[in-house]
Amino acid sequence: MFGVVPKVLWERRIPADARNRIPLALRCLLVEHDAGLVLIDTGIGNKENEKFRDIYGVENAGTDGRTSLEDALGELGHKPDDVRWVMNTHLHFDHAGGDTYRDPTGKVGLSFPKARYVVQRRELDFAKHTNERTAGSYLAHNFESVPFQLIDGETEILRGIRGIPTPGHVPFHQSILIESGGERACFVADLVPTSAHLPLPWIMGYDLEPLVTLETRRRLYQRAEAEQWLLIFEHDPNVVSGRLTKDGKGVGLVNEKRLD
Ligand SMILES: [Zn+2]
Repeated sequence: MFGVVPKVLWERRIPADARNRIPLALRCLLVEHDAGLVLIDTGIGNKENEKFRDIYGVENAGTDGRTSLEDALGELGHKPDDVRWVMNTHLHFDHAGGDTYRDPTGKVGLSFPKARYVVQRRELDFAKHTNERTAGSYLAHNFESVPFQLIDGETEILRGIRGIPTPGHVPFHQSILIESGGERACFVADLVPTSAHLPLPWIMGYDLEPLVTLETRRRLYQRAEAEQWLLIFEHDPNVVSGRLTKDGKGVGLVNEKRLD
């Protein structure tokens, strides 16, 4: 998760287990919009086998065969049918795995049958044409049966909700910027997966274009700081969100919302 950053440095921030894994969240964002419920990214879903779940230490089983995402929606009083929009930042298995689900007979169907699913056009194309490096993260059963609405570049998908291209992790990755009541929040997804990744060069080994990630972050941080965006971290197990601050040493966070 930290690429070329030495372990002696990153393990002070997030200690690894005996198998060299660190805890990560699969945080999805639910937006209550006049156009209906909007779900941004869908976690890892339920379609992977036991070996996969063991390798990654997946813990997302809910009650009665559901996923913890469905349970979380239920806690808010919502059913999967209530979700009207699903927006994917990109199509890696840990972001789009829950777009679809496998029923007890083995059939794969849409998890949110009444939703319109939105992704960047070139991301879908990229996901469908993998090579030896990219194939492990793009699993066809996560997107081949999804009737996506495709967007091109920066797009206002719904009033106050924009997809903004943030390339680097993958070439057509997007973050989702939300404006409401004069405030802005940005679901940065894998541009900055955890708050520990805020320093510009703390870039994941998974990123296909790390130097592009660096420049995308530099640009986004300028806007985020100037406009006081609330940044929301998809993979951070403890820090849900915060606002950027720059001190002499680099970037930091204020107004952190923590779970611990
Ligand atoms: Zn991810």
